[in-house]
Amino acid sequence: MLNSFKEACIMDNKHKNDCIKCSVAQCQHNMVTENYCSLDSISVGTHEENPTVPECTDCNSFVKRTGCCD
Ligand code: SF4
Repeated sequence: MLNSFKEACIMDNKHKNDCIKCSVAQCQHNMVTENYCSLDSISVGTHEENPTVPECTDCNSFVKRTGCCD
């Protein structure tokens, strides 16, 4: 699966954003090979009323990669 993600990144001609590290390979904005996001900026939010740990936060710019996670 990782190889097809890499190929998709190359085909999309994405460029990594050095300021946004991310290892979520299932997101179509992820570079996969380098654990970086390709967006210029992202939106981060929370699903908790009172967030206290990193797990309480979410990347709201996440978009499921086509063909992934079915
Ligand atoms: S949009 Fe969010 S989840 Fe997707 S690669 Fe960028 S930082 Fe990661």
